Amino acid sequence: MASGKGAYLTDVDGNTYVDLICSWGPLILGHAHPAVVEALTEAAAKGTSYGAPTPGEVELAEEITARAPVEKVRLVNSGTEATMSAIRLARGATGRAKVVKFAGNYHGHVDALLAAAGSGVATFGLPDTPGVTGASAADTIVLPYNDIAAVEAAFAGAGDEIACVIAEACPANMGVVPPRNGFNARLKEITARYGALLVLDEVLTGFRVGPSGWFGLEGVTPDLMTFGKVMGGGLPAAAFGGRADIMDQLSPGGPVYQAGTLSGNPLATAAGLATLRNATPEVYARIDSAAARVSAAVSEELAAAGVPHRVQHGGSLFTVFFTDAEVTDFDGARAQDTARFAAFFNAMLEQGVYLPPAAFEAWFFSAAHDDAALDRVVSALPAAAKAAARAG
Ligand SMILES: *Cc1c(COP(=O)(O)O)cnc(C)c1O
Repeated sequence: MASGKGAYLTDVDGNTYVDLICSWGPLILGHAHPAVVEALTEAAAKGTSYGAPTPGEVELAEEITARAPVEKVRLVNSGTEATMSAIRLARGATGRAKVVKFAGNYHGHVDALLAAAGSGVATFGLPDTPGVTGASAADTIVLPYNDIAAVEAAFAGAGDEIACVIAEACPANMGVVPPRNGFNARLKEITARYGALLVLDEVLTGFRVGPSGWFGLEGVTPDLMTFGKVMGGGLPAAAFGGRADIMDQLSPGGPVYQAGTLSGNPLATAAGLATLRNATPEVYARIDSAAARVSAAVSEELAAAGVPHRVQHGGSLFTVFFTDAEVTDFDGARAQDTARFAAFFNAMLEQGVYLPPAAFEAWFFSAAHDDAALDRVVSALPAAAKAAARAG
């Protein structure tokens, strides 16, 4: 890709596309939003990094604590760093080694969390990845998602060795597979009972599915949370936070080491603040209605073409699964017909619509997706649905 503006991307050959990836979530205001560009230009002129805390860092942390149930926040550079640091903190604070994660949940490319991961790891069908040693994954317990009995059994077996359970607050990296009613609340209850911590990963959903992310829709307060994507406004910024007594274990106040040369740098915090401050209720309402319009149209066209499918929603995020069975876990997601997805994807691309190029991802909208952009998406659907039908 060569450039982006609003809802559109232009590639190096000069083709333009309606962008339904939005950099995998961060660009909730669209590409090159004037407020973000202005904030970045102003910040760059004042120097790009000081190696010391800045007002922007504090303001961004305050923006996060105002929206999410975290008492203290530490800024880092990527979602991967956020989950890696949260896990280290959970282990340090509990003095325990084991971590429970769920198959199909993606938490970045942290060694210990690449077991049965979603996102690109799912797309390439890797059970694990070369380069991750047995030792670094040995303390990771992988369970099927949405299966509370499996969680109970894991804790019954090794409860006093488990430092934390980490889960996407609403998984979207195996496609959107929302938690069953009460699943996150049960995770909270079970971890508390065994003296373990609950880490909810909102790197993707945070500040995207609403002003307070998935927490704003469901209201389960974990011990630690992770954020990224939207809060960086398209620059490298992420964060983890949570209960003050746990966060106080971090260095330099506490013994659990964490640091970062460029963490909370003035450019990233400027882009993040400009994005969050412009992510008004109207922005979320527009994204909700864009997602509702397009998801309904996809379903209608696929039904008309006789293609088995199922659209699953997590707030304004949705995935079109090429199966008619409800998808509640990774096995279900993998049971879909990816050949139909490939045909559908390529037909959309040929008509100038840039969808996530894998069947295990969510579709993303921004406030810049106006009626003209959505019309272009909707008018591409009939041909794509027919292509999917032929691929069956
Ligand atoms: C994207 C993502 C990450 C990793 O973030 P990076 O900035 O790509 O390292 C972690 N967790 C979830 C839920 C994500 O969607």
